[in-house]
Formats: sequence, structure tokens, C-alpha cells
Amino acid sequence: MRLSLSDPISALGPIALRYARALTTAGISSIRDLLFYYPYRYEDWSHVTPVAALVPGTEATVQGAITSLNPVRVPWRRQPNIEALLTDAHGGTVRVRWFNSPFLVKSLPVGTRLLLAGKVERVKGVLQFIHPQWEKTAAGAAAQKKTRLVPVYHLCGKLTQKTVRYLAETALTRLSSVPDYLPPWLVTDARLRRLDAALRAIHLPADWATLREAEKRLKFDELFFLQLRGARARQEISQLRSLPLAFDRRAVKAFVESLPFSLTQAQRKAAWEIIQDVGKTTPMNRLLEGDVGSGKTAVAAIASFHAAQRGCQVAYLAPTSILAVQHFETFCKLFQGTHITIALLTQGDTRIRNQESGIRNNESEKIAKKGLYALIAAGEIDIVIGTHALLSETVTIPNLTLVIVDEQHRFGVRQRHHLLKQDSTVPHLLSMTATPIPRSLALVAYGDLDLSILDEMPKGRAAITTAIVGPSQRAAAYALIHEELEKGRQAFIVCPLIDPSDTLGVKSVREETERLKREHFPQSSLAMLHGRMNAQKKDDVMREFSEGRIQVLVATPVVEVGIDVANATVMLIEGAERFGLAQLHQLRGRVGRSTYPSHCLLATDTESEAAIARLHAVVSSHNGFALAEQDLALRGPGEVYGTAQAGFLDSLKIAKLTDAIILKQSKEAVARLMAHDPTLERYPALRARLAQFEQSVHLE
Ligand code: ADP
Ligand code: MG
Repeated sequence: MRLSLSDPISALGPIALRYARALTTAGISSIRDLLFYYPYRYEDWSHVTPVAALVPGTEATVQGAITSLNPVRVPWRRQPNIEALLTDAHGGTVRVRWFNSPFLVKSLPVGTRLLLAGKVERVKGVLQFIHPQWEKTAAGAAAQKKTRLVPVYHLCGKLTQKTVRYLAETALTRLSSVPDYLPPWLVTDARLRRLDAALRAIHLPADWATLREAEKRLKFDELFFLQLRGARARQEISQLRSLPLAFDRRAVKAFVESLPFSLTQAQRKAAWEIIQDVGKTTPMNRLLEGDVGSGKTAVAAIASFHAAQRGCQVAYLAPTSILAVQHFETFCKLFQGTHITIALLTQGDTRIRNQESGIRNNESEKIAKKGLYALIAAGEIDIVIGTHALLSETVTIPNLTLVIVDEQHRFGVRQRHHLLKQDSTVPHLLSMTATPIPRSLALVAYGDLDLSILDEMPKGRAAITTAIVGPSQRAAAYALIHEELEKGRQAFIVCPLIDPSDTLGVKSVREETERLKREHFPQSSLAMLHGRMNAQKKDDVMREFSEGRIQVLVATPVVEVGIDVANATVMLIEGAERFGLAQLHQLRGRVGRSTYPSHCLLATDTESEAAIARLHAVVSSHNGFALAEQDLALRGPGEVYGTAQAGFLDSLKIAKLTDAIILKQSKEAVARLMAHDPTLERYPALRARLAQFEQSVHLE
């Protein structure tokens, strides 16, 4: 029976069923998903390199026999590493290391003849294969006959390379052909392969030349759809209308002068860009980027003041209720002495601040939720602060003119349509993020957004000392944490995700918390924070930490630790080499929020010189944008920012932002398309694919 792209993966038979769970984890539920699950590299099994000729930093295949193989324990890792030596026919010996593979002790006894393929690295001056692919020689010879270029896929769960290869091959054999969603003129213009040929070649390449052509086509598609999405969204937004706010220079100036600090140049510029945007009838759609602590809240306050001053209502949305409370408290201070009324509205908390109570006791009064709804609906509250639930049906904000969203990059066109009011206007939108997204990336990935960047920190911050902690410095690192705790300070310990199936980081955090309690901090109060805890529990833990009742917080990077705990002065990041540089920099921003000197400890047991060199960049640079830019040149956005955070940037599975020519071509193609058919009316297949793309990358 012939297959079609939308068929479920189970149509491939019993093997697909047996691996159903792992396939789901990998995001593969249909034949289409499988075909778009590209290999991340290829092995040229036909070309064997003598060990003596290996070059560090390159991919290679060697052939030889195992001459020793032992498990070696590593602190904090549950599984020992496997360390082996392989000697080839010419007498050359190379070190090999595998992770999480204890079964190799049985599978590869000394004497086993193997083909090894993977990346060669120089570690402490010695050449090593790090977690290479292997095949016992007989099997290797057979594989060689079938195809010379063997695809290598990212795996999760029980999946093996052989399974994915088999499934992809079966699917391609049983599909009649894959229809192309790109218009023929575009394919011709950009000199691309047809989609069908490209997908076949990416999984079953005949040779390097065909493979490169296939890669070019598929890279083009990723960059094309990302930019098309942005262009379409910008187009849609330009059709909408917002209320233009006239600028009251004197009032805004007085407000800025009332702030307890003078603005940085970057804050001034950002505030001015926002004021100009909201003065137009086209809705503002601006992203304000700046490191943790760069002072985004003050910019948000100026924008809010500007709107409230004009009699409009503002909604300020935070990702968690604890952050909403924090913003409310900050706003109460910043708006002291103004006539502006501010309310907090979260699941568990409702508060209000107006001029009288604000002036009288500088404290906000608690009020009932229903009463607050009524006040908001009557237009008596100028600024409402809460979580995303705020924009639910139950709350009516009649004069809503400005929406500020903290730490959520994506506030889609559709969400904005929901806010369409009776006079058919929508609010202006300001998104804020601490993720350093360089302009070059933002142009491609956030084509619908205008960008303001706070690239300057307020003066007078205590320095954060960053250090790399190798296995031998571990004891000293724990001693340093102890010292800080004794001084009354607090600590973060961040664990990486162990494997892709543990996307919520439950496993690593739980194990590490127990180990730390037992081995290092029996006297201290520890708590953990991971992705599987419910929102209430997370809030509780964060509150206890911010109130100082928890001394050490063990957390995953997935978890939003955007909370301002000035008393936390030390952060230990486990498996630091697994993080993107931008992500490490952002995590580091959680300490150093007071005048106490702070420490960020990058713990790693890697011996790879390249990995250590990457970490050194974080030690020596405190510029998030520079770090992100540097890392992006080497790795994909998902790896630079962490997968949870990169979100749809992860849709760049094969394309790199450094693919300058393809980037230019795809940009031109988008421009041509938008110029002659902005609604894509004439291209239903393209529209359908764009919708799929938006869905698969969780845009709205
Ligand atoms: P972000 O939201 O960008 O992480 P915040 O807005 O929370 O940063 O600001 C961090 C801290 O810096 C706050 O305590 C704030 O009062 C202070 N701050 C903001 N702007 C300035 C400035 N221009 N000069 C001095 N301190 C500032
Ligand atoms: Mg903030």
C-alpha cells in the first residue's frame, strides 16, 4: 500500500509500533515528521583513516581492535563513563570515551574488532573519540556495501541509528512522491532541488554532491518559512489599528525625573522608541531586550506612565504570579506621588494602590477579586499587573491600550486579535526579554517585531566572579558555597537535563538534591525546582527562597528563576559544557543583584579543550550579546539558548544563520512573494505548509 505524508508513523509496521514511545518523544508521529527528522551528520564508512593520521576537530572513521575497556566513575553522573583504547592495523592507538553506555563492558570485550566513527578531539594533549558510533567489523563491511554515506540521527529513548535508518528508508520506498509546496518559479529562480529529491537524498545520499544540494534546498525552506512567517505577521498587524497616544513631554519628563536613578543612555533611547511607536495608529509590536538587571522594568514603567497619563489602561503580564507581585511592588515604588492607580491580580493575590493609600502608608491594601474586576471594568484602574490569565474572558479592561509582556517572546497575531475591541482597535504591544538575541538573528527570526536593546548596565553593580570548576576543584567550590551560606547568603545549583527524554529535568534535579543533602549540605535547607512541579508548588518554593527560608535552591534551567533574590550570591552550574553561552550568561544574571560580591561556578568534567575554551569566553566576557553572537557562529540557536527557551528558533534544524547566501536568497524570495501575493491566495500548498510550520514551532 502506498503511503502519504500525513499517515501516522505506525503505518510503517511493527517496528514503528515497538518504538512508538521514543518516536513520540523525538516529535515523530507522522510520516511527514519522520522525513523532516534530518540526520545531523553522515559517516563516510568507506574511508578509513589510520589512527596515526587523525586530525583533532574533524570527523573520522578508524578500524581496529579494542585493547582495553573500563568503566570510570564520575562525580554526580549516575552512569560511569566507559574509557577504552583501540589499536589499528598499523599499531596506532587512540583513546575512546562513551557516556551512559554501561552495557559496552559486555558488548565490546577486549579483542573485539570495530569500525569507529565520530569526532576526534584533543583532550589534555591526547587524541580521543568522544562517544563515537561503532559497528563490529563484519556488520561494518555489510553496511559499506549498501551505502557509503551513513546518516546519523539524534536519538532518544530506545531509538537506535539502525531503527531510524530503517524507518526512513521504508517510508521513502513506500511514498509515491512528495508534492512540493514551493511555487515552481521560486524553485527555478533559486536553483533549488525539488522537495521530493531533496528529502530522498538527505536520508539516503548517493554521494556528497547530491547531499549538499539536498541540504541547500532544506536549509532554504527553514529560513524561508521563518522569514515568511515574520513578513506575514507584520503584514497582518499593519492591517490593524491602535489608538495613537499623544506625547505629553512635560509629564513624562517629570515622571522620569522622579525615578530614584537617572536613566542609562540605552533606557532613554528605548523609552523614546516606544513613545514614538505608540504615537501611531499602526499597533506597536516591539521587543525590548536587555540582560537581567539592565533595567527593563523602568522602561516598562515609563511606557505605562505615558499611557495611563493619557487616560488609557495598561496590562502588564508576568510569566509567574511571584514575578507579578514583584513587578507590582516595584511599580508601587516608582509611581509614588503620581495619581496613577495600580492593581495586582493573580490567582492568589489581589491588591490595589492608589494615590491616597500610596501616600498615606506607602502600603497597598488587599481587596476582593470581584470588587477589583468591577473597578477594572469601570476604567478606574490604570495599570493592571498579573499573569497571562489576566487576558482571560472574565476580566474586561475597556480602555486597554498598551500590553506589556515580560519574558515571553511570542505574543501572536491571533492572541492580539482576541484583544480586538468594539471600536476595532487593538492594544499596542511591548514584549520584554532577557535573552540576548543579536540583531542579525532577530531580523530573521522576529521579522514582525521592532527591536530595542538595552546594551548598557546601570552603574554600581557588584562584580560577579566566574570560574571554571574541574573535578579537582569541586571540593573548593562546595567550600565556597558553605562560606557564603555561613555569611547568611543563599545559593543556586543548576543541573543540566540529562537526556532528551527528560525534558523537564526531574531526574537530574531529584538525584542531585538528594546527593547534595547527604554528602555536602546536611545542615542546610535545600529545595528543588523542576518542570514537573505545578505552578502553585513552584511559586511556594520560589517565595520561600526569596524570603530566605530555603538556603540552597537546586533547579533545572527550564524553570523560570527570573526572580530577584538579592541575597543569592553564588550559583553553581553543573555540566556547564552542555549549556549555550548565552544561556550560561543569563543564568549567571540571577546572582550579583546586590552590593555583595557574587560568584558563578561553571562545573564541568569535560576534558575537551574546545569545550573549556568555550567556557572561558563566559569567564572573561559579561556581554550577553557578544557571547550569543560568538556561540551562534558555532552552534544552532537551540544550543545557544537552551531548547525550552529558543522555542521556534529550534525550527532551524539544518540551516545556520551563517548560511549567508541561502539567507539572502530566501529573504529575496519572501520579498517577491509578499510583493505580488501578500495573502498567499494563489498558493494554497504554501499556505498550508506555513500553517504547519507555525504549529510545529508553537508560535501561537
Ligand atoms: P531587568 O528587568 O532588566 O532584569 P530591572 O528593571 O529589574 O532589570 O532592574 C534591575 C535593578 O536595577 C532594579 O533594582 C532597578 O531599580 C535598578 N535600575 C534600573 N535602572 C537603573 C538605572 N538607570 N540606574 C540605576 N539603577 C537602575
Ligand atoms: Mg525583569
